[in-house]
Amino acid sequence: MGLLTGFGELFLPRRCAGCGREDVSLCTACLHLLGGIPRAMEPRYGQIPVVGVSEYSTQISHMVVNFKDNGRRDILDPLALALARSITAALELAHHSGGRVRLFPAPSSPQALRRRGRSHTAALARRAAQLVPELSLEVIDVLLTRHHHDQVGLGAHAREANVARSQYLNPTILDSAIGRPGGETESESGVDLLIDDFSTTGATLAESARVLASVQIRPAAGAVLGLGRGGTRFVSPFTV
Ligand SMILES: [Zn+2]
Repeated sequence: MGLLTGFGELFLPRRCAGCGREDVSLCTACLHLLGGIPRAMEPRYGQIPVVGVSEYSTQISHMVVNFKDNGRRDILDPLALALARSITAALELAHHSGGRVRLFPAPSSPQALRRRGRSHTAALARRAAQLVPELSLEVIDVLLTRHHHDQVGLGAHAREANVARSQYLNPTILDSAIGRPGGETESESGVDLLIDDFSTTGATLAESARVLASVQIRPAAGAVLGLGRGGTRFVSPFTV
């Protein structure tokens, strides 16, 4: 972050990260999209419900792309706050009544990590954790993925095939943050959640759940921003 970047931000016209409207970071209509009542969906793939605050839309998609690829750090807080609301609802769905909560962000490919220098899902999860300190959310960025093609534009079966057996665990983080399988951390009570920006068919979250199950971690739910229509049905609308 140099002086030039700072000046660039001063002189560039600000546009809504969702719809492109001028002179705002996020316009009221796009902010509204992030403020929806959380809903839970049973995805087509996988066993765990997924909670989101919005249906997948072009605007939400643009927000996430602008955040992760176009340096729009100015919308970190609105996105993280929306994610925090999904997390809170997911904990309600999981009957969380105290104890530790671990968040497992969806993995980025090594190529994406090199290009962006960070994992955007982990960044969102960490900021969400800061926004609700009373929940003591712990972000464990242990999931990695081999390169696979972007999911955009793929049908349900192609998505599932695209992510099948694509993820693995970072051994360093596994040892330091989780402990070895059979260690005492296993017996601690608490809830584990999967975190992603979107979920359509649930294929990515299902693959994360499969990999984590190999070390006896079984997430109770997924928490995302946008839910696609690839699920089987919506379950239990929340009142929060
Ligand atoms: Zn907008």
